[in-house]
Amino acid sequence: MHSPHSACATHSADSPVPVAPLVKPGLRRGWRDLNTVQFGMTPAHAMTVGPMDTATGSFLDLLNGTRGLELLREEGRRMDLPDGHVDGLVRRLARAGLLDDAKGGGPAADTLRRKRNVLDRLRPDLASLSLTTSEPGEAIGRLAARRSLRVQVRGAGRVGAAVASLLSGAGVGEVDVRDVGRVEPWDVAPGGLPVEAVGDRRDEAARRAARRSAPDRPPRRAPGPSHGEDSTGHSLVIIAPRDDVAVHAPAPSAAEPLIASGTPHLYAGVVEGTGVVGPLVLPGETGCAGCLDQGRTDRDPAWPRLVAQWRSGSGRARQVPPCDLTLATTVAGLAAAHALAFLDGHVPSSAGARWEVSLPGLNWHARPVWAHPACSCGAAEKGEGEHPSEFEESHETMAEQRPSNELSRMAEAERPAGTWRAHV
Ligand SMILES: [Zn+2]
Repeated sequence: MHSPHSACATHSADSPVPVAPLVKPGLRRGWRDLNTVQFGMTPAHAMTVGPMDTATGSFLDLLNGTRGLELLREEGRRMDLPDGHVDGLVRRLARAGLLDDAKGGGPAADTLRRKRNVLDRLRPDLASLSLTTSEPGEAIGRLAARRSLRVQVRGAGRVGAAVASLLSGAGVGEVDVRDVGRVEPWDVAPGGLPVEAVGDRRDEAARRAARRSAPDRPPRRAPGPSHGEDSTGHSLVIIAPRDDVAVHAPAPSAAEPLIASGTPHLYAGVVEGTGVVGPLVLPGETGCAGCLDQGRTDRDPAWPRLVAQWRSGSGRARQVPPCDLTLATTVAGLAAAHALAFLDGHVPSSAGARWEVSLPGLNWHARPVWAHPACSCGAAEKGEGEHPSEFEESHETMAEQRPSNELSRMAEAERPAGTWRAHV
């Protein structure tokens, strides 16, 4: 079962008052007119606040994390702002999700702040997290929480090795890689396995590459139940096969232990000229490899026959399968992003869907992976009538249609970081 890694702030109706408030520096500010300020540039995260007078507008510059509330009130008096104005402003900005706390996020965040070099490596990631979190201090809390997460990557080819390095580089504390065999010259990829690793054991070489990407030494793990070959205790398992058939037609049997233990898992890989990210399987909730297989059989009676032939290796001489370097890197990056979004407490659009992109047009599109009633994972009973991540509305393009209001942010942030409930 999952160990809870929750390190995220509790969501209350009223945001906690930050100790050292700062207006989220990741959002550029601009005046839309004399009394309306726009925070942020892009539709996904921009927000307007008004009415705001120019004095208050210039006061925003003082909300940079270097002053506590008492000092801010003093500055407000000096600027002849009315009594209570500063408190009201801070409350209002916090409620709108525009305020961070330079001292918030809890003990793990404090530890991270003391590691200056580590935090400097992760600063852009922290600034980015501040855009997808709403509570003051929540961004650094989530960044710090990544350190206690355990992720397993199965497959250390061009995609898998890069995914492992990316997650490790983004601060995930433990990235384990599983594979067999030795590194071949064609496994080498920027951001993945280095040329020096050719001939080394593939799994060890990929773990080494991931460790080298980490901003920090791996956390010391308290002795506890052993986390051996099985997948228990992993917040997420990423299945990134080197085998092209396994990418196109993931074997339901391979994921059975993951379904049984309630371990979330994400598929990613390259098959022929197509890159695939998804589905992210939340066992018992969203469509799995079994659901995908059943659905394909419904639509195409020849599907099982074809899969059997592909798996047996007929129809093509054994050779190095196609895997465009840039496509593999793109897939690795997107898969790692979906993984992180999930680990940070969101449900990304790969839940119940496969994102696919083909050379040379490179148009991303999502194919739904519906929960299938004949699949033993149980997602179909659970999800009767619901479609994970509102497929039709939001999966048409890569651009997420995100109304920039506070409510949608709260809704997206409802699940504590790095936790998932097992339903089976
Ligand atoms: Zn299923």
